[in-house]
Amino acid sequence: MSEYLENQLENRFNLFKLWNHSSPKPDFLKTHSSSIKAVVGNTKIGADANMIDSLPNLEIVASYSVGLDKIDLGKCKEKGIKVTNTPDVLTDDVADLGIGLALAVLRKICVCDRFVRSGDWINGDFALASKFSGKSVGIVGLGRIGSAIAKRAEAFNCSISYHSRSKKPNTNYKYYSNIVDLAADCQILFVACALTEETHHIINRKVIDALGPKGILINIGRGAHVDEPELVSALLEGRLGGAGLDVYENEPNVPEQLFSLGNIVVVPHVGSDTEETSKAMADLVISNLEAHFKCKPLLTPVL
Ligand code: NAP
Repeated sequence: MSEYLENQLENRFNLFKLWNHSSPKPDFLKTHSSSIKAVVGNTKIGADANMIDSLPNLEIVASYSVGLDKIDLGKCKEKGIKVTNTPDVLTDDVADLGIGLALAVLRKICVCDRFVRSGDWINGDFALASKFSGKSVGIVGLGRIGSAIAKRAEAFNCSISYHSRSKKPNTNYKYYSNIVDLAADCQILFVACALTEETHHIINRKVIDALGPKGILINIGRGAHVDEPELVSALLEGRLGGAGLDVYENEPNVPEQLFSLGNIVVVPHVGSDTEETSKAMADLVISNLEAHFKCKPLLTPVL
């Protein structure tokens, strides 16, 4: 949890840091469960059915994330519990990182950096890389972040196509109802959709093979969008051209087989982790909680 958010919460509410109570959790719940009215979650811990059931007076779940995959929305709806998240304020950062990963993979920026630091330059020039500008870009999930990636990629003269459940009315980007067709027709595939049962492993072997040995996969969505063992074997066998990853199926564990490859760039789920954005996200969490307890309209309601 962000230190700033913790301080802001502590200044306004009686804050229980649940992670400090992990071993005696049942005792903690016995003592405090009926006094807890709000849960603040993040990308790692949200509010699952067990937690919701154990807090009889829970009124609101305010997530310090835009993704809702760690919250049992069905249960919240059933019990009339409100849910808020932090949309928009993080969109630029995540889209920036997505483009950064694509540039880093294609232009081999991290390998170049290691090449210079290791002193290898003395022995000869670096090998040629691959161009980003003008490549065809496919986006899975043309929501806030997907659209921001599209806007940035357009400025690099990339052609833009996308896949989502429905065609968007206000865009000229090419729509694919089938993700395999999108992957076959683009050179760089960005994953930016919400994680749901439907999008779990949406990037499977078929999609990876359609993207092919020259294709690049960039995942700034959630790790579980990608069938990770399939991704690893495709990269090791040269069936996929490269990958830029911010998220993984079993964070913070990243498949070590990837580490020897020069055509991947891995970062530790830092899509929205800038000073500016983490503060804006925390302020939004607080504003939603304050609005709720003052019986005012929520700023970014999900439920
Ligand atoms: P958003 O505006 O709600 O966009 C989500 C998109 O997912 C929608 O355009 C939706 O399009 C698409 N989608 C949903 N179900 C789909 C399906 N079955 N097949 C294909 N597309 C589907 O959300 P956002 O603000 O752009 O955020 C997107 C996701 O990024 C979040 O859910 C979160 O998991 C992830 N994220 C990651 C980081 C990070 O640090 N790496 C930071 C923030 C967010 P349709 O409704 O048309 O299908």
